[in-house]
Amino acid sequence: MSEKIQMLKEKINQLKKDKDAVLLVHNYQVNEVQEVADFIGDSLELSRKAQNIESKMIIFCGVDFMAETASILNPEKKVILPNLSARCPMAAQLPLKTLLKTKNENPGVPVVLYVNTLAEAKAECDVTCTSANAVQIIQKLDKDKVIFGPDWNLGYYVKKRVSNVELIPVPKYGFCNTHKLFKDGIEALELKKKYPEADLLVHPECDPGFQDNADYVLSTGGMYRHCKESSKKIFIIGTEIGMVDRLRREIPSKTFLPANPNAECPSMKRITLQNTYEALVNEDPIVKVPKEICIKALKPIERMLEMSK
Ligand code: SF4
Repeated sequence: MSEKIQMLKEKINQLKKDKDAVLLVHNYQVNEVQEVADFIGDSLELSRKAQNIESKMIIFCGVDFMAETASILNPEKKVILPNLSARCPMAAQLPLKTLLKTKNENPGVPVVLYVNTLAEAKAECDVTCTSANAVQIIQKLDKDKVIFGPDWNLGYYVKKRVSNVELIPVPKYGFCNTHKLFKDGIEALELKKKYPEADLLVHPECDPGFQDNADYVLSTGGMYRHCKESSKKIFIIGTEIGMVDRLRREIPSKTFLPANPNAECPSMKRITLQNTYEALVNEDPIVKVPKEICIKALKPIERMLEMSK
């Protein structure tokens, strides 16, 4: 580890104490940012954590919609995203007007939105979901038809497990650019031939062809638990590369092979140790959701947390 990185880490850890700040870090962050985290997890785990924060300030090392969710859950606290250009392209694929149009075309049909959406869209849905609880939420809703978005591949994953529900996609075809890079998972299948004893774990944002070839389709939180608890020793990881860093660091006795070493989310990687340090010093840039949107968006998030207990 370079001297500069070590110095930044020490300064960040001291500033967190001095300013009563908590650092929430997504599994897709770079290794050195993960190493200064107070809590690392997937979207569901981070939302749960954000619901019960006592510190005065939250530094969110993730992307725009995650910091917004933390702000909606903690309207009185300072929520800081170290780089405002860390925006999730999938969330941007669902503008409010597209959602409202689909709602108008399907009156009375409940709307379930992946948390990977912006606050103004969340404010117009009935309940949010993550890849960890989407199946559970749709089952518990117990409706024949559901408007679901923005991720078409997550919709495929849900539909395979809850076949009696018609999912109306919004937008028509939303996707994650990073998980698209796996395509049908040819490289992962080559690895599986080389290491037949390995478990192939695939994220539900990946294409259906890749999901169908997986041993397990799991959220990143699910992947972590599976790798920790399984008696297997080798795992092929079909998600963003930051997850492989976390697994290698926290479960050193096992082997983790990236299904595609180039599967990097450029938005997540806009957060660095340097801008995290600067965010702590300047207490900026702040993410604040307008009050009226905040009040409306809180309900579907709280409903999700309640329904996935
Ligand atoms: S990995 Fe995909 S869904 Fe997640 S933040 Fe990056 S672009 Fe968005």
